Amino acid sequence: MATFNNTTWKKYQEAVGDRIKALEETMIAKTANELSHDLTMSSEMWARKRLERTQVIAQLYRTEIRRARDEILAITEEGLRYSARVATDNMQVDDVPIMRVRASMETELTALWSRAINDYRMTVQRVALDSRGLFDAITTAIREKSDDGYVVYQGGRKVSFKSYMEMSVRTEMQNNALTNMEKSAVASGVELFIASSHSDSADDHAEYQGKYYLADGVVWRDEFARLDMHPTAKYLSDAKAAGFLTRPNCRHYVMPVTTPQAMASPNGDAMRKRLGMPNEDAERAKYKALEKQRHNERQIRKYKSRVINDEITLANITDPDTKTAAMAQLRADKAKVAEWQRVQRAHIKDSGLKRQYIREKPGVIVEDLGARLSIKRSGV
Ligand SMILES: [Zn+2]
Repeated sequence: MATFNNTTWKKYQEAVGDRIKALEETMIAKTANELSHDLTMSSEMWARKRLERTQVIAQLYRTEIRRARDEILAITEEGLRYSARVATDNMQVDDVPIMRVRASMETELTALWSRAINDYRMTVQRVALDSRGLFDAITTAIREKSDDGYVVYQGGRKVSFKSYMEMSVRTEMQNNALTNMEKSAVASGVELFIASSHSDSADDHAEYQGKYYLADGVVWRDEFARLDMHPTAKYLSDAKAAGFLTRPNCRHYVMPVTTPQAMASPNGDAMRKRLGMPNEDAERAKYKALEKQRHNERQIRKYKSRVINDEITLANITDPDTKTAAMAQLRADKAKVAEWQRVQRAHIKDSGLKRQYIREKPGVIVEDLGARLSIKRSGV
C-alpha cells in the first residue's frame, strides 16, 4: 500500500505559499510606491498624474504576475503529480484532474493583473475625491494595503490577496490529492483511515484530529468500538461534511491503515508515530501561548509602522486643520503601541515564554515604504 509522505507534501504546499507571499509583497511595494509619487501637488494634479500612468502600471503588474504565475504553476503541477503517483501506488496517473487544477489556477493568476490595475485606479479616484485632505487619504490608502496585503474582492467581501490565493490554490490541491488517495485505498480493501494531529489545529477541528474514521460503505462491526473515534462522525464523510479536511487552509490529512494495524494501536498514537504523521496534541497548549505572543507582536508592529507613517505625513502637511488631525492620529497610534506592549509584558510573564523584541519591529514591507516616503520627504 502506498504511504502518503507528509514531509514531501508539506514541501510543495510551502513552496507555493512562499511564492504567493513574495508576489503579494512585490505588489504591495509597487502599489505603495506609485501612490506616494508627487505628494506635494494638489490632489487634482496628483490624481491626473497617477491616472496618466495607468498603462505603465498595468504593464508593471502584468510582467510581475506572469513571472510568478509560471513558477507557481510549475510547483503546483509537480505537487499534484507527486500526490497522484503516491495515491495510485505508481500504477497510473490521471492527467485530467491535474490539468483541470492547473488550468483554473492559470486563469485565476492571469486575471489578477486586471483586478490589480482596477484597484489602483479606484484608490487614485477615492483619494482624489476624499475631503479629509490629500496626505491623510493617501496614508490611509497605503495603510490599508500594508495591514491587509493586496485587497481583492470575492462576492462583495474584501479579502487579502494572500488568503484569497491560499484558499483557492491550497484547498484545490489538497482536496484533489485526498480524494485520489482515498479512492485508491478503498479500491484496495482499506476500511479505516487515521487523521493527523497538529498543535496549531483550528479550534473546531481539534475534536476531529487524531481519530480513526471508517471508509464509506463499510458496515459497522463491534470491534470498531475499541478504536479512538469521534463520538458522532464515525465515517470519513461525516467529518468532511463538518469541514474537517475540506475547509480552505485546513492542513489535516488522513492516511489509510489496515484493520489489523488499527486494532494493534487502538488509540492511534503508536500508529501515527510509525507513519511519521504529526502527533502533537500535547504541544497544543504551548502552541496556543506562542500564537498569542505572535498576535501581540503583529499588533505592536502594526501600530509602530503607523507611527512612522504618521510622522512622515505630519512633516508633509502645511494646512493647520489637517495638521491638528494628523497630530491626534499620531498620539492615538503611539498610545496603541504602548497598550499592546503592556499586553505583551503580561502575557510573557504568565506564559513563561521569551520575549522577542526583533519580532516587534515593523516588517520589511513597511520599512521599504518608510524608506520610500523618507526619500520623498527629503526631496521636498
Ligand atoms: Zn483542519
